[in-house]
Amino acid sequence: MKNNCVFCAIQAGEIPSEKFYEDERMIVIKDIEPKAALHYLAIPKRHYKLLGEMTESDREDLGKIFATIPSLAEKLGLEGGYRLIINQGDDAGQTVFHLHIHILGGQKMDFPEL
Ligand code: AMP
Ligand code: ZN
Repeated sequence: MKNNCVFCAIQAGEIPSEKFYEDERMIVIKDIEPKAALHYLAIPKRHYKLLGEMTESDREDLGKIFATIPSLAEKLGLEGGYRLIINQGDDAGQTVFHLHIHILGGQKMDFPEL
């Protein structure tokens, strides 16, 4: 498995996934262990672990990814709103060290109190 990384393996088609969207810089898949009624992951195609490791082109891509997510809301059933989360490191509970954005929705986000 490339980089020993589950998200790189998903992109290479080595691990199956439920893909909802793809463009030149990212894929959007369903999270395998949903923590909300709807739970997707927006995954940049390029592998890097943390926001602090981004190259200039990673930064540019991430900006475009954030700009694209709202245009996918209807397709993803998120017209009522959604929450984006990026876990960074152990204390945040990051388990996959390939940067990704959690997209949570399909219900009132009454957890946790932020
Ligand atoms: P994090 O804890 O922020 O690193 O998030 C990693 C997320 O990836 C978790 O919510 C997992 O449920 C999810 N995940 C792990 N393996 C897969 C997979 N093969 N397909 C889809 N989601 C996955
Ligand atoms: Zn990766």
